[in-house]
Amino acid sequence: MDIVRTVADLRTRVRAWRGAGETVGLVPTMGGIHDGHLALVRAACDRLDHTVATLFVNPKQFGPGEDFGSYPRDEEGDSGRLEAEGVDLLFAPPESVMYPEGYSTRVEVAGLGSILEGAFRPDFFSGVATVVAKLLLQVLPDAALFGEKDFQQLRVVQRMVLDLDVPVEIVGVPTVREPDGLALSSRNLYLSVAEREIAPALFATLSAVAEAVRAGAEPEERERWAESALLSAGFEGVDYVAVRDGVTLGPYATGQGPGRVLAAARLGKTRLIDNVAL
Ligand code: AMP
Repeated sequence: MDIVRTVADLRTRVRAWRGAGETVGLVPTMGGIHDGHLALVRAACDRLDHTVATLFVNPKQFGPGEDFGSYPRDEEGDSGRLEAEGVDLLFAPPESVMYPEGYSTRVEVAGLGSILEGAFRPDFFSGVATVVAKLLLQVLPDAALFGEKDFQQLRVVQRMVLDLDVPVEIVGVPTVREPDGLALSSRNLYLSVAEREIAPALFATLSAVAEAVRAGAEPEERERWAESALLSAGFEGVDYVAVRDGVTLGPYATGQGPGRVLAAARLGKTRLIDNVAL
């Protein structure tokens, strides 16, 4: 696996594959590589001839006071794991390549980008949409793969690609979990031993909401139940638990298309998000 750090080197490598008629998949990451990221790599390797992974802790998607400074950074360990899983090329640009002096453009996905996560992290989705738009234009892949773990992010990226006519297929990959149900996340490293024991309650609670709503329970009543269940389990704060339409993330209409239960809750200094299908 080669590591490139400039857009010119990246394009030279990808152009050679394209010239030979081969397909290219893109897996964007911020590092802290775990089995969730590796599931995206495996899905890319299964579908496409070549897999490009990217490693870039994107400052534009962190708000003031968030964990940009302390986010796990271990390029050597990450690149070893990505290479072992079949990544052909790693793009690990410095910030000066992604946002050189004078950089001024942001991509905003209105509506979808300002609800749920967007209501608590106002610049988050425009930071994500901006960096993903850049990565898609830099690599010009046939497909880009994103985890359902970050379900709203997946929908925001799909909306952006549709709106901007970006010629790429966006593929969602199911969430990889620990045996006790906790979704793998680079941020799980922040959890203390005691917090780690409480954390699986998030998935368990969302699963219980999904099951109850499937059985006919009133979504809003189950959202309120879930918030108090999470607080009783030891979470210190619940930003939201929401039963939503699985495509628009707008209000869920019982029996009309797929639904999704999404939540964000705080455990010590860690904010966990998760979601399940209805
Ligand atoms: P991140 O490095 O956290 O920005 O994540 C990079 C990609 O990996 C995103 O598309 C995430 O949705 C995906 N991802 C993160 N955790 C998981 C997981 N537990 N299962 C599946 N995909 C994941």
